[in-house]
Amino acid sequence: MFLENTGLKNESYGWIEVITGSMFSGKTEELIRRLKRAKFANLNVEIFKPEVDNRYGTDKVISHDANEIISTAVPAAANIRLLADNCDVVGIDEAQFFDDEIVRVCNDLANRGIRVIVAGLDMDFKGIPFGPMPALLAKADYITKLHAICMKCGDIANYSFRKTAIEDKVVLGEHDTYEARCRSCFYNG
Ligand code: ZN
Repeated sequence: MFLENTGLKNESYGWIEVITGSMFSGKTEELIRRLKRAKFANLNVEIFKPEVDNRYGTDKVISHDANEIISTAVPAAANIRLLADNCDVVGIDEAQFFDDEIVRVCNDLANRGIRVIVAGLDMDFKGIPFGPMPALLAKADYITKLHAICMKCGDIANYSFRKTAIEDKVVLGEHDTYEARCRSCFYNG
């Protein structure tokens, strides 16, 4: 039978949920909310994030409202495959910083019966789709797109505007470096 030859942990498949949006849209808060709910249900939960994102230290996912949860920082997406054994739920934060292998890793975990919840920026500061996020969104079973509030005009914001002239794709920072902007304020910025 098909299922007996696929190496599945059990006969039920998992799925991929992607939480996306601009900076300051509450992606990490939503990720933490879902993971904590799974923990309350006594499910085995693990959280991973890329090593590049060390804004707040390496062992926690901390959202802007200081709601925190312990996580493991990994150098590459392939590390998650090994570390996620025996998990019921896997959370991945700042997924835009992972290499393209993250797409295959998430798909494999879902096929092994794991619920995979991924949070990441959909676009970089130039409004260009960010790293593996387009492919993750294509492979996702469920997508939640969150919005911030434009820090210029108060409208609904979909873009992360960088306030400095640095051109590097990855510049870590928060309110000192970025602000959420609506379409109009982003392109007229
Ligand atoms: Zn605006």
